[in-house]
Amino acid sequence: MSFDSLGLSPELLRAVSEQGYSEPTPIQAQAIPLILAGRDVQAAAQTGTGKTAGFTLPILHRLQPLASTSVSPAKHPIRCLVLTPTRELAAQVHASVQTYGKYLPLRAAVIYGGINMNPQIKELMAGVEIVVATPGRLLDHVQQRTINLSQVEILVLDEADRMLDMGFIPDIRRILLLLPKQRQNLLFSATFSDDIKKLSGGLLQDPVTIEVARRNATADLVRQVIYPVHKERKRELLVHLIRTEPIPQAIVFMRTKHGANRLCHQLEREGISAVAIHSDKTQVHRTRSLEEFKTGKVSILVATDIAARGLDIDQLPFVVNFELPHVPEDYVHRIGRTGRAGSTGHAYSLVCPEEVKELAAIERLIKTTLEQVLVPGFDQNNPTPEGLDAKGMRSRTGLRRPGTTDTTRAPHRSHGTMVNVPAPEAAPIQARQPMATASAPAAPDLGGGQEAAAVAQEVAPSKVRREPGEHHRGHLSRSHFGRPPMASLGKKPREIPALLGGLIKKST
Ligand code: AMP
Repeated sequence: MSFDSLGLSPELLRAVSEQGYSEPTPIQAQAIPLILAGRDVQAAAQTGTGKTAGFTLPILHRLQPLASTSVSPAKHPIRCLVLTPTRELAAQVHASVQTYGKYLPLRAAVIYGGINMNPQIKELMAGVEIVVATPGRLLDHVQQRTINLSQVEILVLDEADRMLDMGFIPDIRRILLLLPKQRQNLLFSATFSDDIKKLSGGLLQDPVTIEVARRNATADLVRQVIYPVHKERKRELLVHLIRTEPIPQAIVFMRTKHGANRLCHQLEREGISAVAIHSDKTQVHRTRSLEEFKTGKVSILVATDIAARGLDIDQLPFVVNFELPHVPEDYVHRIGRTGRAGSTGHAYSLVCPEEVKELAAIERLIKTTLEQVLVPGFDQNNPTPEGLDAKGMRSRTGLRRPGTTDTTRAPHRSHGTMVNVPAPEAAPIQARQPMATASAPAAPDLGGGQEAAAVAQEVAPSKVRREPGEHHRGHLSRSHFGRPPMASLGKKPREIPALLGGLIKKST
């Protein structure tokens, strides 16, 4: 299928072709005609599927007849509101609107917290057709009466699941009350939990549901490896992996802001360029850090989940979980930063005995038993983990040193396991549910809601959630991928955590 067949205007097709896109992604092929037809849409799609262009292009097309070159602000009411959970995602969506709308006289503004409100007020006063915003700052503008949402015709909730996770429901309810009832609604979410279904039930009118092939289900290959290691040696192991793999560029995920700062300093002391990005950093710092990482000026971006959500970084080869997330779904989001657009990625997790529970929850969610690799030198406290060495444990030998090539044995990467990582099962979306949002009374303002929620989550991670029916442990055959499966080495898949078990024994 080509973009030409979707019914988009020549101005939009020109902008698309300048981006070098040869054909629409599955979500674009499905969503664009529906949105052009004015339908409400709920789509199960993650970042990386091309969803931003999937809603931006048809929205621009629909607004095109209303575009005006007049300087009068009255000629530029806000017609489309896009809500996103994070500032970075808002900035990315805004950039997409500008990219795809470059040949149209439509104006777009991005509104998020952490920066001076005045330039935003000036932009809003001059008139903009499209506003991309985070809920907290948007409500600040509402409170100051510097924004008028009474002419919004299209509402987009991007990464709705994350907005709910971050505690934005009260903010979203307040915003919905300010919008005209007659409008087109588009809701994008990686997963469809009961809460999301409740939200979409109260928001969408006779929606069409789109579900694109689950992320990583086909082309996106992410090699996932667990490195068992004692907590206090994680930093050392990370530096070792960065140098020996080598890892040229990676996002390293931490649970807390404090941990992110500390690791960043430690890496810098080791001569590895790193920046930290989390909710305590100023927006100027966050934007600059991201830019430095994207341009390759720094090699390691140490990030908390909140800050990294929705980041679109081309060709990111590695993601490292320095700590496993408390919420298993976050693992899927994290590793979704790599292996994008059909390229191969690597997701390494440094797992200490204290994280066995989190690992088990992740493996249940993705229905995969992850490969575990012990790095020689990092298991010295436990050279023969109980029950493994004797039976043929895969310890990692033949490490490739930087600048060397090994002709007798393929580099580490090539004999690893390539695992198709299913995203969390998107539960079937039910028919419309009773109004759950628009008619609800407005909840009290959280006051800077976005950052408050972000801070809360980075400091006090939420509880592990379990999806119904996910207790099945997948038995992935690894023999297809070059290395013998663990089972064929004498271990049943469910016994694999024994590697970690060996560490646990030593540490207690
Ligand atoms: P998104 O899921 O919206 O974050 O998009 C992920 C990446 O896919 C972005 O870098 C887009 O530039 C890129 N992209 C979007 N649509 C296409 C397409 N049709 N062909 C190739 N790349 C695309």
